[in-house]
Formats: sequence, C-alpha cells, structure tokens
Amino acid sequence: METILVTGGTGLVGSAIKKVSTNLKNFKFIFMSSKDCNLENYDETFNFFKKISPDYVIHLAANVGGLFKNMNHKVEMFESNMMINMNVLKCSYKFNIKKCISCLSTCIFPDKTSYPIDESMLHNGPPHNSNDAYAYAKRMIEVLSKSYNQQFNTNFSCIIPTNIYGPHDNYHLEDAHVVPALIHKAHIAKQNNEPLKVRGSGKPLRQFIYSEDLAELILWYLIEVESQDTIILSVRKDDEVSIKDIANIIAKESNISLEFQTEYSDGQYKKTADNSKLLELYKKSKGKNFNFTPIDVGLKKSINWFKENFNNCRK
Ligand code: NAP
Ligand code: GDP
Repeated sequence: METILVTGGTGLVGSAIKKVSTNLKNFKFIFMSSKDCNLENYDETFNFFKKISPDYVIHLAANVGGLFKNMNHKVEMFESNMMINMNVLKCSYKFNIKKCISCLSTCIFPDKTSYPIDESMLHNGPPHNSNDAYAYAKRMIEVLSKSYNQQFNTNFSCIIPTNIYGPHDNYHLEDAHVVPALIHKAHIAKQNNEPLKVRGSGKPLRQFIYSEDLAELILWYLIEVESQDTIILSVRKDDEVSIKDIANIIAKESNISLEFQTEYSDGQYKKTADNSKLLELYKKSKGKNFNFTPIDVGLKKSINWFKENFNNCRK
C-alpha cells in the first residue's frame, strides 16, 4: 500500500484531510506534527522521511497566522518557512517522492495588480507590505519546486488556496486569521455583554474556502490529476465577501452587535482570485462541478466546533 505523508497534519487543513480521507482505503496516511519532527531541522527531517518512507507528500506545514502575526513576526515568518520548505523539498527529492504538492496562499500575490489574479501572476511585483516576509518565503516554494523538476526531473507542484476556515483552526486572539479570531472574540463578547470588536474598517474583501472542501480538492489534485502546474484552489469570484459580512454572520449567531476598531490595519484591500483553471479541470476530470460549502453553512459548523471543543482547541 502506498503511503501519503501529510506535513502539518494536525493543523486546520491537515485535520480536514484526515476527515475526508477516511474512505480512501488504498492509501496509508501519516499525519505529522512538529512533535513528530521539527521540519526546520534538516537532520530530523531526513531521519523522519527515512523512517516513514513515503510515496507521496502533501506539504502543508508552515508557520502560519493572520494579518497581525504576519506584521509583528516578520523574521520568524520568513526564516521558519524558508527552512521548512527547503528541508521538505530536499528530502522529497532524496527519497524519490512520486509527487509532492506544496501549499502556497493567495495572500502572497502582488499587492499592485489587476484583478482577478491568476496563476501566472504570482511573481509579478512585491506582495503587500503587511505580510511580505511570509509571502516571499512562500513564493520561493514555487521557484524551488520548478527548479527541482527542471534539474532533477522530480514531480513537485504547488496549490494556491484562498483564505481557509473550519474546525481545528487556531483560535488565538492576536495571531489567528480573521474567522477564528472573530469566533473566539464573539464568544468572549457574549459573556461580557459587549459588542464584537472587529479590527479595521470591515471593508476588505476575501474569498473563504471551507477546510473540508479544500481537503477534497487537494486529494483530487494529488491522486487524480497528472499535472505539475500551479493551481489556485478557491471559491468563485462571486463568492467574495467583506470582513463586515462575515463579522455580521458571526455576531448574529451570538445575537450581539458589531464595533469597528479603525485604528487597526485593514491589510490588503482585496486579492480576488480567478478559479477558472480549477473549475475547468475539475469538470473535465469528474464530469461535474465542485459544490463549495456556502459561507454561512461553513461558519455555523466552525462556530459549533469551537463551542464543542473550547477547552482543548488551539487558542
Ligand atoms: P495550521 O493550522 O497553523 O497548522 C500548521 C501545521 O504545521 C501544524 O500541524 C503544525 O504542527 C505544523 N508545523 C508548524 N511548524 C512546524 C515545524 N517546524 N515542523 C513540523 N511541523 C510544523 O496551518 P493551516 O492553516 O492548516 O495551513 C496549512 C497550509 O495552508 C500552510 O502551508 C499555509 O501557509 C496554507 N494556507 C493557509 C491559509 C489559512 O487561511 N489558514 C490560507 C492559505 C494558505 P504543530 O501543531 O505541532 O505545531
Ligand atoms: P489576510 O486575509 O491574509 O489579510 O488575513 P486575516 O485572516 O488575518 O484577515 C485580515 C482582515 O480581517 C483585515 O482586514 C483585518 O483588519 C480584518 N480583521 C478584523 N478583525 C480581525 C481580527 O481579530 N484578527 C484578524 N487576523 N483580522 C481581523
């Protein structure tokens, strides 16, 4: 039986892959975390690959966070992601991995650009200043994956998800992405009989993909698609919503009002991504369209998961 190693297997996306892969009986999955191996360390990474001997790698592990973590920890966001990615790709080459898929993000696209953004535009200008350290480190995965393919004939490719949310997210009040941060803040605001405090103006626009939808798409791209092309994994352009829209849904669930803290940064105004490559390829491969989870449905599931797992979740 072939083995699929999922780095970052305990995170938001890794946990979703764990859930949706239960019916894939032809593969053995290994979901690793930093407790199994520190991927920043080359020798540890090498020894872990040697022990596990994977056939495929889904590379998700990263030093990840929302706007404010990216702004406040630029050195760590650059250094740890560069080290993790160089080590994982080197070991994927050394251990003859049949296919390695690495995870980028739509937040690493150029700040000044035309919209919608497509796969060809990744390196066409500097990223937004707020997350440039993280973004440049992430962009280098594509450069290095293509370099390995060209020089050593490997089969490395990259996926570019948009903003992700769902169960098992990191609900840290300061470092988290906007959805988990606001879900946690709404929980506290409700207890204190206060409004939900939303950072920035609420005007920025984002596309949000539910983690289990993304997990299905990643497994499809790994197992069913023969391509080394970088691909955007995002909901449609029409499904773009404002931060105010998602704050409203979250606040409504707790029956509380909103307050905007405009002294905080808005970050990038928008990063509207074009998912037509995904839609076309999926339709061609499966003979049907992919059904994305609507944002209100996904948010309700995430809020319920947070409430049910309050004592043990990351926060
Ligand atoms: P996450 O929930 O923060 O999980 C990160 C995972 O990486 C955890 O399993 C963590 O293990 C592991 N990890 C971190 N540092 C490590 C190290 N030094 N050695 C080994 N493992 C390490 O992240 P996520 O949100 O699932 O993100 C998955 C991927 O999607 C990342 O590549 C991220 O850049 C990308 N992405 C995320 C978003 C988003 O909105 N979340 C959007 C676009 C792209 P521990 O639990 O042991 O620390
Ligand atoms: P981004 O999509 O990569 O910019 O990252 P985030 O998921 O952190 O979303 C940032 C957007 O949400 C910005 O417009 C922030 O001003 C807004 N926002 C509102 N409240 C919060 C919060 O509590 N945490 C975070 N991370 N962002 C917030």
